[in-house]
Amino acid sequence: MNDINPSADFIRDIIAHDLLHGINEGRLQTRFPPEPNGYLHIGHAKSICLNFGVAAENPGGRCNLRFDDTNPAKEDVEYVDSIQEDVHWLGFDWEDRKYYASDYFGELYRFAEELIEKGVAYVCDLTADEMRDYRGTLTEPGRNSPYRERSVAENLDLFRRMRAGEFSDGARVLRARIDMASPNINMRDPALYRIRRVSHHRTGDDWLIYPTYDYAHGISDALECVTHSLCTLEFEDHRPLYDWILDQLDIPCRPRQIEFSRLSLEYTVMSKRKLNALVQSKVVSGWDDPRMPTISGLRRRGYTPESIREFCRLIGISKSPNRVEHTLLETCLRSDLDARAPRTMAVLRPLKVVIDSLPEGYEESISAPNHPQNEAMGRRTIPFTREIFIEEDDFRESAPKQFKRLVSGGEVRLRNAYVIRCREVVKDPTTGRVVELRCDHDPATLNANPVGRKVAGVIHWVSATRSVVGEARLYNPLFSVPEPDALKGDIVEHVSPESIEVLDGCRFEPALAEGGQTLPYQFERLGYFHRDPDSTPTHPVFNRAVGLRDGWTKIEQKL
Ligand code: ATP
Ligand code: MG
Repeated sequence: MNDINPSADFIRDIIAHDLLHGINEGRLQTRFPPEPNGYLHIGHAKSICLNFGVAAENPGGRCNLRFDDTNPAKEDVEYVDSIQEDVHWLGFDWEDRKYYASDYFGELYRFAEELIEKGVAYVCDLTADEMRDYRGTLTEPGRNSPYRERSVAENLDLFRRMRAGEFSDGARVLRARIDMASPNINMRDPALYRIRRVSHHRTGDDWLIYPTYDYAHGISDALECVTHSLCTLEFEDHRPLYDWILDQLDIPCRPRQIEFSRLSLEYTVMSKRKLNALVQSKVVSGWDDPRMPTISGLRRRGYTPESIREFCRLIGISKSPNRVEHTLLETCLRSDLDARAPRTMAVLRPLKVVIDSLPEGYEESISAPNHPQNEAMGRRTIPFTREIFIEEDDFRESAPKQFKRLVSGGEVRLRNAYVIRCREVVKDPTTGRVVELRCDHDPATLNANPVGRKVAGVIHWVSATRSVVGEARLYNPLFSVPEPDALKGDIVEHVSPESIEVLDGCRFEPALAEGGQTLPYQFERLGYFHRDPDSTPTHPVFNRAVGLRDGWTKIEQKL
């Protein structure tokens, strides 16, 4: 902890120190470097909030967006577009600093020739299998490649011919000439360039050789004059290589790599490979399926940028394992929406109630607050009619005292309206199922109990004749175990069938037919719901973003 900024972490401490001591001439330059091979997920949000966040917190600090597009086989413009949309939606901006590693292919190539000329890179003809064999193990040193002593001239000639397309894919690689006996396997003459006859989404067929991630990343950082290159812990063992490459070259800026732990979230997976498998198998509806941990999925579900940024702030930055309970994300959304989401009523599993004390065709306009605490959010008008719907499980023929809703012969308050008493229960003669309740209302109880009258229970309702029919989609975790990454076999097979429940024939307040509202609503007593893009004015579709409290689904099912 540090007195100036109580939420500081070890990376912010390093940066504060560097700025204070005028290191990097007092500049702060970070970058967010996604590989455009999938949609961004909540783990990326952690990295975005750190890289863009720390730049925003310090005067003059800047953060670049850089697409790490060195692996053309898996990359696509669809991903490039979605990444930009998601970073903006989260509330961050790279201004005019959008870069691509492929912008540097020319420079990367020239630097590679420079390494060859310095005698610290060579063209190797070992096959992939041989290379693995020569590399050694964690306990045994590797062996020098028979091609390691090639002359500079021969290496230059071969590397130029690799570029010119004279050899087939995999026939030769350019390797750094470091130390085959290094205890760090990453330093045992790692590959710098591979032959790949694959079209690149930006450079087309200009290149037949592509740089490796390790080679391209540090140089890209240095060319952009990045000061602090923040990445996840799996790159810790690559740092000596990152530094080695920059030590060989004469680039004026010298970035420092600092690693922090990856976020992992319970009951879901975060690897793009696995998320892609879910999308390809169609077990989810796409990258933006509201069950996915992707930014686009969370957005479709009803998550707000504010709630995700707050989540990232709460989980913090450190080097220790960052496995987070999925309920923390939900808590962040709930507390954001509690203050801001307009209230409305919807009935997901409708049971008809006829109020016999009202005349046929009766309709009254009832005024209700849009938010119980915040008057500035205004009021709305709800039609109250002789026939209404209540939630099926808000009625029981008989129930213990703890059941504070409607029972046969009992009373309950209709939210924003009157107290009603259940006079008669109508059942389907064959199934015995309750299909309708006949009730009376007490006209003296609109929104208040008369003196001496106590009615504890309050339930929500909508007009039967003046409501709109639509769909609600309820979600549970994508996997039923907290650590799905540990499951064996095909990840697609493990998706929980209970992860989605679709309810049609739901009833919404008539105003919900119209769009325009960007925040989710609170459906009173049911949770926060967000309009889905599948929604139409005649058939609204709402996703439940989150219930009203933890474990709400379980409580709901039990009662
Ligand atoms: P994945 O395994 O999901 O494909 P990745 O690390 O290959 O992840 P990149 O597109 O290369 O994905 O990541 C861009 C940046 O986001 C990197 O700096 C990476 O370290 C960071 N990042 C990715 N996943 C996480 C995570 N779970 N937690 C924190 N940062 C992450
Ligand atoms: Mg990657």
